[in-house]
Amino acid sequence: MTPAAWHDRPASEALTGLDSSRQGLAQAEAERRLARHGANRLPPPRRRGPLQRFLLQFHNVLIYVLLAAGAVTVLLGHWLDSGVIFGVVVINAFVGFVQEGKAEHALEAIRKMLSPAALVLRDGQRHSLPAEQLVPGDIVFLASGDRVPADLRLIDVKGLKIEEAALTGESLPVEKQAAAVPGNAELGDRASMAWSGTLVTYGQGTGVVTATGAATEIGRISTLLAEVQTLSTPLLRQMSGFSQWLTWVILAIAGLAFGFGILVRDYAVGDMFIAAVGLAVAAIPEGLPAVMTITLAIGVQRMARRRAIVRRLPAVEALGAVTVICTDKTGTLTRNEMTVQRLLTAGHSYDVSGVGYAPHGGFSLADKDAPVAEHPELLDVARAGLLCNDAVLHRSGDDWQLAGDPTEGALVTLAMKAGLEAAFELEALPRVDIIPFESQHRFMATLHHDHAGHALIYLKGAPESVLELCRWQREAGEARPLDLAAWQPRLSAAANAGMRLLALAVREQAAPSTGLNFADVEAGGFTLLAIAGLADPPREESAAAVAACRAAGIRVAMITGDHADTARAIARQIGLSDAPQALTGADLEAMDDARLHEAVAHIDVFARASPEHKLRLVNALQARGEVVAMTGDGINDAPALKRADVGVAMGHKGTEAAKEAAEMVLADDHFATIAAAVEEGRTIYDNLKKAIVFILPTNGGEAAILLAAILLGLTLPITPVQILWVNMVTAVTLALALAFEPAEADIMRRPPRAPAEPLLSGFLVWRTVFVSLLLVAGGLGLFLWETDHGASLAVARSAAVNALVMGEIVYLFNCRRLTAPTCNRAGLAGTPPIWITTVTLLVLQGLFTYLPVMQKLFGVAGLPAASWGRIVLFGLAMYWVVELEKAWLSRQAKSTV
Ligand code: ADP
Ligand code: MG
Repeated sequence: MTPAAWHDRPASEALTGLDSSRQGLAQAEAERRLARHGANRLPPPRRRGPLQRFLLQFHNVLIYVLLAAGAVTVLLGHWLDSGVIFGVVVINAFVGFVQEGKAEHALEAIRKMLSPAALVLRDGQRHSLPAEQLVPGDIVFLASGDRVPADLRLIDVKGLKIEEAALTGESLPVEKQAAAVPGNAELGDRASMAWSGTLVTYGQGTGVVTATGAATEIGRISTLLAEVQTLSTPLLRQMSGFSQWLTWVILAIAGLAFGFGILVRDYAVGDMFIAAVGLAVAAIPEGLPAVMTITLAIGVQRMARRRAIVRRLPAVEALGAVTVICTDKTGTLTRNEMTVQRLLTAGHSYDVSGVGYAPHGGFSLADKDAPVAEHPELLDVARAGLLCNDAVLHRSGDDWQLAGDPTEGALVTLAMKAGLEAAFELEALPRVDIIPFESQHRFMATLHHDHAGHALIYLKGAPESVLELCRWQREAGEARPLDLAAWQPRLSAAANAGMRLLALAVREQAAPSTGLNFADVEAGGFTLLAIAGLADPPREESAAAVAACRAAGIRVAMITGDHADTARAIARQIGLSDAPQALTGADLEAMDDARLHEAVAHIDVFARASPEHKLRLVNALQARGEVVAMTGDGINDAPALKRADVGVAMGHKGTEAAKEAAEMVLADDHFATIAAAVEEGRTIYDNLKKAIVFILPTNGGEAAILLAAILLGLTLPITPVQILWVNMVTAVTLALALAFEPAEADIMRRPPRAPAEPLLSGFLVWRTVFVSLLLVAGGLGLFLWETDHGASLAVARSAAVNALVMGEIVYLFNCRRLTAPTCNRAGLAGTPPIWITTVTLLVLQGLFTYLPVMQKLFGVAGLPAASWGRIVLFGLAMYWVVELEKAWLSRQAKSTV
C-alpha cells in the first residue's frame, strides 16, 4: 500500500487527514495504531543463515588439508585414521560454528542498546520515546543533529535544514518549509516533508508522522540500511594475514619433511604422508583467529556492562593506546544539574538557596532574607529567565524531573522560587518567535507580544555575547548606561568560584514584528537585567577517574563553552592538573597551526570553545603523535569525533549525528566511563596478546616433536591422529579461557601502548621457540624414557601425549601474566574459566588414556602411576622454568632502561 502524498496539501489538512491535532495523539489511540501499523523499523539486513555459517567453517586451508588427508587414508585403507580425521573436522566446524554464533550474538545485543529515540507529543505532553514506537499521526519535534525518525509532513519550521543524502544522494542540506509544494515535485524538492533516515543539520521543526517503518520512502527503496559490522580489528586482520602466511610456510615445511622422510629416513610413503599431515595440523595455529574474535567479543560485552558501548570494533585497540582524552565539561565531568546560586543585578548580589530543580528556596542579601515583595527587580529577572526558555519541569511527588536543557531548567526553578508561574506568564506575554541556543553564538532570544500591542525581545546567553549587545543596565527600576568596568570583577569572582555565568537582557520593540532574526538581535541596544551564577558540581566519580587516567599516563584535557575562570575552577576541583592552564576559543583562533602545536602540549582547559575548535585541537594533538579520544554530543562535533582516534558520543544528551560519527557511545555520559573503557581496552589487548603467546608455542611444541622424530629417524613419539586429538582438545578450549582474564593489577599504572608496537616482537619469537623446546623436551623425553625402560609403544605414546597436554595446562597458568610472575595467590587462584577448562581437559585425558574405545581409536594404553608421577614432575618443572624466564627477562628489561 502506498501511503497518501501530503506534500501538496496544507499542513492542517495533513493533521485532519491523519486524524491528529497539534496536541498530538492520545496514548491509547497511539497504542491502537501501533498494533495496526506495526513497529516503526525497517526489516533487518539479511544475514548469513545457520547452514551457510556452518558450511563456511569448512572454508579454511587447514580443513582442506585434513579433508585431503582423510581421502588419502581412505584410499590407503587406514579406516581408523580416516574416521578420526573426519570426526575431528566435523567437531572442529561445530565448535567454530557455536563460538562464532555467540560472538555475533554478543555484538547484536550491544547494537540493540543504541536504538534511537524521538521527541513526541502525546496527550499534549512531550515525551522521549524509542523511535520504534512512532505511529502515523504522531507529532514529532526535530532539532539539529537528529535523524528524522519517520516520514513527516512539517507543520512548523524554524531555519530547518535537512541533509537527504541517505535518500536522494544529494549531500547539500535542503531548506525545509511548512507551506505546501506542487504535487508533481520530486522527492528531493518536497520541502514540506522530512524523510525518515535523513539528518537534520540545522534549526528546529515539528511534523506529523505520515508513514512509518517499511512504508516510509527509505523503507521502500531499500531495506539494507543498517551496516553489518565485521568482527575484526587491525590486530585481528594482521593476525589472520599472519596465520595465512604461516599456513603456507608450514605446508612447505611439511612437504620437505615428507620428502626427507622417504628419501633419507626410509619411512613408508603412506606412513610418511600421514606424518606430514600430522606435522601440518600440529603446527598451523588454526584456532587463533577464532580465539581472538571471541576474546574481542567478550571484551566488548564486558565494556558494554560498564556502560561503554563500542560501535566500531577497531576502537577497542585504539582505546588501549590513547594518550590524551579531550572531554566536555558540562554533563560529562560535571553532573549537569544546574542550580542558580547567585544573581547579580546592577545594585545587588543575591544568594539563592535550595538545590536541584525543586522550587524550594529563596533569596538573600548578605545572609539576610530578601523577599521578592521588597525586591521587585527579582521578578523582572525571573520572568526573563522563564520566558526565554524551552525547558519544562514535571513534578512527581517530591521529585522534579527536567525535560530540556539543564541551564534552562535552573531558570524555571528560579522563577518558581520567585513565585512566578509559567502558564500565567506565557498567557500574558505569548511567544511569537525564537532564536534557539547554539554553541556557536552562545545566546538564545525570544520575541513576545503583550495584549496591548507591545513587543519585547528577551535575550540570555554567555556574558561575552550578551554584554556586547547591551547599552543599558536596569538599576532601581530604570535604565542607566551599562557600566562594564563595575561588572567585570563581580563576574570574575563568580566564575572563579566555579559558577557558569548567564546574562539576562531585554529590549522593548518600537514596532511589533512577527519574526525574529539574527539582525534584530545584533542591532543591540539591550538592557542588562542581571547575571546569574549557576552551580554545576563535578560528578563524584570524576576526580577518581581523572586521577586513574593520569596514573595510566593519559592526559585529560577539558573542553567547554563556559568562561575560562569557571572551567579552571572545575579543573582544579577534579584534579585535572596541578595548576590548570586555560586557552580560550578566541586565543585558539588567533594562533597559527605551528603555535597551536606548541600550546596543546601543556594546556589543560579549552574555554569558550566551539565545536569547530575541537577539530583543530584533534589535528594539533595528532600532529604531536598523540592518540586522541574526543567527546562530543552535537552535530557540529561530528567532524572532530570522526577525526579523533576514538570519538566518544554521549548516549543521553548526544544527537544521532554525533553517535553515528563516534566509535564509542557512553550510555551514562560519565567521564568515568571513558576511564573504564580505556581499562577494558587495555585488558582486551592484553588478552589478545596472551592468546597469541599461548597458542603459537603450543602449536610449535606439537610440531617440533614430530619434526625432531622425523629428522632423527625415530619411531613417531606421537601419531598424527593423536596430534589431532591434542589439537582439538587444547588449542581452542585452553586459549579461550584467557579471553576471560580480568585486568592485571597494574593495568592503569602502565604507560599507554605505543601504537606502532609490532605484533611479532622479538619477545614473541623467543617465547615461541623457548616454550616449544620445553614441550619437546617433555614429550620426546618421556617417550624415550618409557621405550628405554621397556614400555610398549602404546604406553610410551600415551605418556608423550599426556606430557604434552600437561605442559600446555601449566603454560596456560604462566600465560595469565605476560611478563609478571604468576607464582602468587592471584596468579595460581585462576579464574572459573581456567579451572573449568583445566578440569575438563583432565577428564578428557583420562577418557583418552583409559577408555577402551579411545585406546583402540588412538592407539594408546593406560599408564602406570610412576609415569603419571613423571608427567606431573615435568609439568611443575616446566611451570617454574617459564617463571624463571619471565624473572630473567624483566631483570634484563630493567637493566637496559
Ligand atoms: P558547554 O560546552 O560547557 O556545555 P555551552 O556551549 O553549552 O557550554 O555553553 C556556553 C555558554 O553559553 C554557557 O556558559 C552559558 O553562558 C551559555 N548558555 C548555555 N546554555 C544556554 C542556553 N540554553 N541559553 C542561553 N545561553 C546558554
Ligand atoms: Mg552545553
